[in-house]
Amino acid sequence: LTPQMNKTVSQLLLKEVVRLSKQFQHKFNRLPAFMEVCGSHTMALARTGVKKALQNDIRLISGPGCPVCVTDQSIIDAMISLTDGENRIICTFGDMMRVPGSDGTLMQAKTEGNDIRVVYSPVDAVRVAEQHPEKEVIFLGIGFETTIPILAAAIKEAEEKRILNFSMWMSTKLVEPILRYLLDYDDLALDGFLLPGHVSMVMGRKHFEFLAEEYRLPAVISGFEAVDLLSSLRQLLLLALAERPLVMNNYQNVVTEDGNTHAKHWMNHYFSLCDEAWRGIGSIPNSGMDIRKEYEQWDAKKKFSVLAKRPRKTKCRCGEIIRGLIEPPECALFAKACTPLHPVGPCMVSSEGSCAAYFQYMREE
Ligand code: SF4
Repeated sequence: LTPQMNKTVSQLLLKEVVRLSKQFQHKFNRLPAFMEVCGSHTMALARTGVKKALQNDIRLISGPGCPVCVTDQSIIDAMISLTDGENRIICTFGDMMRVPGSDGTLMQAKTEGNDIRVVYSPVDAVRVAEQHPEKEVIFLGIGFETTIPILAAAIKEAEEKRILNFSMWMSTKLVEPILRYLLDYDDLALDGFLLPGHVSMVMGRKHFEFLAEEYRLPAVISGFEAVDLLSSLRQLLLLALAERPLVMNNYQNVVTEDGNTHAKHWMNHYFSLCDEAWRGIGSIPNSGMDIRKEYEQWDAKKKFSVLAKRPRKTKCRCGEIIRGLIEPPECALFAKACTPLHPVGPCMVSSEGSCAAYFQYMREE
């Protein structure tokens, strides 16, 4: 579509979504409430103006899909304590550098003279290890099902090249267990989910059928442009109005029924399910993946020991933000003590964080 056609289609879809929302309100006497699971959707809904345009018609609740935001403070603490010693290089993704731990950020630890590097891919960290055989290189591996196969590719490369001075500290998360947790324990009164396009590309549409079968909720897998988001919201409204719990794929040029079987194979080859700590929630059984025992020579948790720190107490409410319990302005620090330049919590640091999205696109000046 040309930009002009895109605009016209978006405007038509917006009108239709508003019309369907009115029908929903008439039928159920309340606003429809949908959760977007993915951090990229949170940012896309804000950036495209869709969230603002629909603020009186749909409760769009941001969920737990920003990998930086859900990473527990203890992981930052562990990475900072691993910097002790001159012979280590810590590698991580850019956003993790500014997330506060109990004693500051990785960025601050770097300015104190520690060798901490930002890499674009975990495979780049394997290359760093190859170039510095005299040093231990530790990669902090965070992310959801989209990233886990890439982490597997790094271990595969290290295994094939026998690079033993490389290891990975895994803190990965899976979407299904956190959605089950929210639906089982939090009273969100949701009418459906906007499902993550990238995670679904790996896991496939069928992976999310539990939402319809067990929780009787509709869900739509969506792309990231305004047209994609609006057409997915339209589908969600139609399903919710008809009280039809179905999982639909509205991102068919990318997402298949079964997902990427090759990627899933390598995930399960190197990693197995483990309990994971989620920021503001605590440990959820089998909600992440960690390195299998057979590959523990690349497991930083087995190679190094770190002392657990007492978590630093702050007034940051990221834990509630990622569960969809509050909106960013409900945090007393929002846009005051906490801004993108001086973030107090990860939801303001991350390029996919709800607080950053709200600050950039939704805030009333
Ligand atoms: Fe945390 Fe800042 Fe968001 Fe408040 S505004 S929840 S302090 S990231």
